[in-house]
Amino acid sequence: MTSPLKFNVASLLGASAEGLPTQRSQTGPTPARIGGEMLAVPEGEELTVDAILTPLGGGVLVDADVRGLLHGECSRCLSPLNPPLDIHVSQVYAADEDFITGDPESEEEQGSGDEIGQVEGDEVDLLQPLIDEVGLSLPFAPVCENGCDIQTPKGVTAGVSGEKDPDDEAVDPRWAGLEKFL
Ligand SMILES: [Zn+2]
Repeated sequence: MTSPLKFNVASLLGASAEGLPTQRSQTGPTPARIGGEMLAVPEGEELTVDAILTPLGGGVLVDADVRGLLHGECSRCLSPLNPPLDIHVSQVYAADEDFITGDPESEEEQGSGDEIGQVEGDEVDLLQPLIDEVGLSLPFAPVCENGCDIQTPKGVTAGVSGEKDPDDEAVDPRWAGLEKFL
């Protein structure tokens, strides 16, 4: 099965390359788990990748929106969480060893912290940049998006299961002040 994160860029690198950005969409199972310990897209889960590939002359810039479904647990009430993954990944790949990207300390390096990838066998693979990006963006301790069931104000219906664990009835006061950040 071909990874939806791999793109053949041969047509963007050859002498006949037109130098114009190309839009491509791919859907398929992720070849590896993407995410952290608490929240991740498991291996084999479907990813949709909408990418714009821009020839750089000796290299390719890939801008991609990756969508999928995360699986995990709320770190407070242990309810299953299935938030959507929707993340942007931007990565430059060099096709030639002498591909010049400018001074390593240039502004391009700042902020993103991106390293230059390598075109291998006419293909670029977004897997590692995606894993890095997701690792930076996912919460370390994910919680229910709209607050845990137990903290839902009276009169508001929420929660998927409708079940309440008696152990969850008491809200730890240490978390109370964090509510506004959730
Ligand atoms: Zn929860």
